[in-house]
Amino acid sequence: MNTHQLMQTDVLVIGGGTAGTMAGIKAKQANPDGDVLILEKANIRRSGAIAMGMDGVNTAVIPGHSTPEQYVREVTIANDGIVNQKAVYQTGKLGFSVIQELESWGVKFQKDAQGNYDLKQVHRVGKYVLPMPEGKDLKTILTRQVKRHKVRVTNRVMATRVIVQEGRAIGAVGFDVRNGDFVVIQAKAVILCTGACGRLGLPASGYLYGTYENPTNAGDGYAMAYHAGAELSNIECFQINPLIKDYNGPACAYVAGPFGAYTANAEGHRFISCDYWSGQMMLEIYKELNSGKGPVHLKMNHLDEDTISEIERVLWANERPSRGRFHEGRGENYRTHGVEMNISEIGLCSGHSASGVWVNEKGETTVRGLYAAGDMASVPHNYMIGAFVYGRICGENGMEYSATVEHVEPNPEWLEAEKARIYAPLDQPNGVPHTQVEYKLRRLVNDYLQPPKSQNRMEIGLNQFVRYQETLNLMGARDPHELMRCMEVHFIRDCAEMAARASLYRKESRWGLYHYRLDYPDKNNEEWFCNVNLKKDESGHMTLFKCPVAPYIVEVDVNREVYDVAVR
Ligand SMILES: Cc1cc2nc3c(=O)[nH]c(=O)nc-3n(C[C@H](O)[C@H](O)[C@H](O)COP(=O)(O)OP(=O)(O)OC[C@H]3O[C@@H](n4cnc5c(N)ncnc54)[C@H](O)[C@@H]3O)c2cc1C
Repeated sequence: MNTHQLMQTDVLVIGGGTAGTMAGIKAKQANPDGDVLILEKANIRRSGAIAMGMDGVNTAVIPGHSTPEQYVREVTIANDGIVNQKAVYQTGKLGFSVIQELESWGVKFQKDAQGNYDLKQVHRVGKYVLPMPEGKDLKTILTRQVKRHKVRVTNRVMATRVIVQEGRAIGAVGFDVRNGDFVVIQAKAVILCTGACGRLGLPASGYLYGTYENPTNAGDGYAMAYHAGAELSNIECFQINPLIKDYNGPACAYVAGPFGAYTANAEGHRFISCDYWSGQMMLEIYKELNSGKGPVHLKMNHLDEDTISEIERVLWANERPSRGRFHEGRGENYRTHGVEMNISEIGLCSGHSASGVWVNEKGETTVRGLYAAGDMASVPHNYMIGAFVYGRICGENGMEYSATVEHVEPNPEWLEAEKARIYAPLDQPNGVPHTQVEYKLRRLVNDYLQPPKSQNRMEIGLNQFVRYQETLNLMGARDPHELMRCMEVHFIRDCAEMAARASLYRKESRWGLYHYRLDYPDKNNEEWFCNVNLKKDESGHMTLFKCPVAPYIVEVDVNREVYDVAVR
């Protein structure tokens, strides 16, 4: 445990999931002589949101089917106008070339009989959904490319902090989750790709790791960026998703929808009137669940056997391959009954909503030399292709930037202090187990932050989250694996505090259920047509401020074109 591992690289990528593997490959492609290191707390072969593959692309902008401008317009409307369109445009512009490159590596996308991409219409406007019925090997294909490009990979190392000196990111620290070594990496550029904060709220099932998001993503990057002094944006715009009740898998709107399946209430009626992009849809589901017409179901029993079998084939092989066994265990069969659905716990994730570390269209955060991509970077509704696109952008820009700076020696006192912080739980192996501390924290998140939100509840929550810092000090760990879990609880607490403060700050309702406030039920464009950003100020306190929405590059009249649903 007392061993120090010291490493040096030009570009350090933290998190080897969707965005991280692409960032590593693109950095290396940009300069094959440069050194690139991916740090991953699991193993990149099967880690992150696409660990078990992916069954479709949600945001494919394919020439002839849609344009980047249409895509920007759709995301602008879905996100109630609060977007940096230049950043969103990148996904629309570069997504197709990413798909082509993935295809050249062996990733299979659905084609029609003529060999054209078989895009499906799921949203009211535009065709963006490209099925991947054979997408189960996506992560292993990416891993092969990482190796082929000679990107260095250090699996089983968890980053805990970015090192910032002289106003720029100069590396990161962490520890080996197997042997406990303290790891210090000097880097010229650092790219954060650690995914969502998926373990913020507690799922209805009560299982700590039964979350909608990949459970190893505990908001690590959100917290690391915050402590590095970077700005975060739209944190009050939570992620909430429809999912199969008690099962941590999505409701399959993008897969089953194009085949004719739909979400129905207990009376068997369709009730969703708005689009699948938005928090408005979640508000409609929430309302239905809380009306006399709940629960809601995924309805397929009107479909023929061939269609149901095909849906099952896709859903049970990809992404969440335990789904078939789950249904079987419950005696559920799509042929005879609708499968009950629920709404997920809350989380932070720009991929599905908008909260993240603020980045511009180059993937740059507000800290020099620090980049962010994927679910933790604030480009709304970016999903998988957006993670690849921003992985690429950050990899290329990070490598270019690294050529302009020299390594900086980390401050040894700072390193010692961080080491003491990390290893403290090992000094008290009989301390409170991390599971208990995490469970209580996330119950508090559910109790006080789960929408609909209100000032009184959130103030109690905020007070609890601030005081919880002391509770974290009671945690004990018996080995490096438990230490990893303890550090994750630290990250979750940081995210809970950010979520409470940002939600209190925005005094209006926006993004449907994501930021639905009972005390301010209406949207107020006069005062709140802006981003709410937050950062750690010079004195170490969390400070919040309004940030103007960047000028649009694609014309959208957000006052006329929102998918609003009446809140009451
Ligand atoms: C259930 C579900 C279904 C989805 N369905 C679709 C779909 O059908 N179509 C679509 O387009 N998109 C879909 N998405 C979205 C898409 O998968 C994500 O937007 C995308 O994969 C996010 O990539 P990422 O790189 O940000 O995160 P990830 O791929 O999750 O990668 C994050 C990585 O960081 C590592 N990590 C975390 N913290 C640390 C740390 N401290 N130190 C080191 N490593 C760390 C993790 O282990 C992980 O490997 C879905 C997502 C989910 C959760």
